[in-house]
Amino acid sequence: MARTQRSWWWWRLGAVGGIAIRVHLTLILLLAWIAVTYASTGAGARGTAVGLLLVVAVFTAVLVHELGHAFVARRFGYRTRDIMLLPIGGIATLEQMPEKPTQELAVAVVGPAINLAIAGVIWIGITATGGQTSLGSVTSLSGSFLAQLFWINIGLAAFNMVPAFPMDGGRALRALLALKLGRERATEIAGTLGRVFAVLIGFYGLLYNPFLVLIAFVVWMGASQERAMVHLKSALHGVPVSAAMLRRIETVSPEQPLEDAAALLVSGGQNELPVIDHGQPIGVLTRGDVASALAHAGPDATVATAPHHEIVTVAPDDSLDVVLERLRASPEAVAIVVDHGQPVGLVTPERLANYVALHGRPAS
Ligand SMILES: [Zn+2]
Repeated sequence: MARTQRSWWWWRLGAVGGIAIRVHLTLILLLAWIAVTYASTGAGARGTAVGLLLVVAVFTAVLVHELGHAFVARRFGYRTRDIMLLPIGGIATLEQMPEKPTQELAVAVVGPAINLAIAGVIWIGITATGGQTSLGSVTSLSGSFLAQLFWINIGLAAFNMVPAFPMDGGRALRALLALKLGRERATEIAGTLGRVFAVLIGFYGLLYNPFLVLIAFVVWMGASQERAMVHLKSALHGVPVSAAMLRRIETVSPEQPLEDAAALLVSGGQNELPVIDHGQPIGVLTRGDVASALAHAGPDATVATAPHHEIVTVAPDDSLDVVLERLRASPEAVAIVVDHGQPVGLVTPERLANYVALHGRPAS
């Protein structure tokens, strides 16, 4: 998901173990809406607080679920950039997904397992304190606070373990199938199940709950993206960077006036300019960077005064499928090709897509 660094839509809550936790504005609005709804139905201050607390507890469970994915991935050496919380759930943005089936399986199942564990702890708590609530008689929408939370966690585990992409169960299924069928075929099967699942919840949603139509849409997109991605990666596997890179590239130095950078972006075919200091690439300028720096500092300011982005560097003989993964994890999605310390080219996802369109197998 492409995001600008400072956006009104995303609010940073804090960080856990070096992983930033961001909340989407719509989730905050949802909380406000719930508070207003409770208050207006005469629930009173106490009822409103309990209602809000339940939603916060649910999203805490979602957050712990995502942290589970992140920490297991870290054990295998994969970093997580951030965890995003939206009204439809959470997303842990792993810089790269483990492709070893056993590792992917472990990363996938830990999330739902955590929800089951939370439900287990609640169940023990209720029975140990001799709670009068029988769990069977309440649902996620009525009954005591803890009993509702119990059922919501069971529901989260069950929904996420549906064996269809992009749910955790789909990943688990893909990992298991990949042991026998290979990753591409396995993804196709899990992705097709994802689309079927999306259609089913979409129809159900049309009849009973419009919110489910939104979920169906997200599931459909996730399933389709994963299929396209695996096709693209297998077409790029083993192809060296030098085969697809843009060779004659324009660059700027930190001492150059910003106007030079603007002129190069207007006249050339590049959307990003590498900043080169004494032969070393030190950053990338986008059109947005140049425009905002010009607006703030004026045309006489130098490139050094403009904010620039961290660079992704690759070698000419790196494999393009690996580069694609790294580009997906980088917000700017541009890599500078460096050969013997010298910048010799640029790679962007569009160039990779073009390469596949010309040379690769067509993606279905
Ligand atoms: Zn999950």
